[in-house]
Amino acid sequence: MLRPRRRIFKKWRRNHNLSVINPVVEKYWLQRYSLFSLYDEGIQMDEEGWYSVTPEEIAIRQAQRCASRVVIDGFTGVGGNAIQFARMHCKVVAIDIDPRKIESALNNAKIYGVEGQIDFVVGDFLQQASSLKADVVFLSPPWGGPSYKNVKKFTLDLLKPKDVI
Ligand code: SAH
Repeated sequence: MLRPRRRIFKKWRRNHNLSVINPVVEKYWLQRYSLFSLYDEGIQMDEEGWYSVTPEEIAIRQAQRCASRVVIDGFTGVGGNAIQFARMHCKVVAIDIDPRKIESALNNAKIYGVEGQIDFVVGDFLQQASSLKADVVFLSPPWGGPSYKNVKKFTLDLLKPKDVI
């Protein structure tokens, strides 16, 4: 038998037509306002973005430590960190290998009104790293996603990107 809270959630889910949401994403969607407080203004995400974005409160704390600096965000994703750096008066170089992520990050930065402080770059950070200069290099590389739960033993070689050293 379902516990009452679970039953209520199932009913709520049916009423809100959550069946259209990818089950991998659902857990993160329920946390959407802690990921982006302005979520309802038109924040764009994709599946990897959902499980990768740094929760806003954490991104704010990280950015507070870098206020007013030049920051390279080498793995920008949908912009969770880059946006908070910019809000903390940083000049940000936001790099991601996936053009769709950069598109979403730009859209999301506009929602927070900080797109003017961020240079968006589609590219491989590992290729570009040696030619970049900044006060801070912030790295939040992909962690592989929630499927790690299905692996018996999680070894470091399962992390991406590969061949960093
Ligand atoms: N901190 C981000 C999330 C980063 S997720 C946020 O808060 O939104 C990690 C990102 O690294 C993914 O978007 C992925 O496309 C990107 N990525 C993976 N390999 C990369 C590489 N070699 N260079 C740049 N970006 C890369």
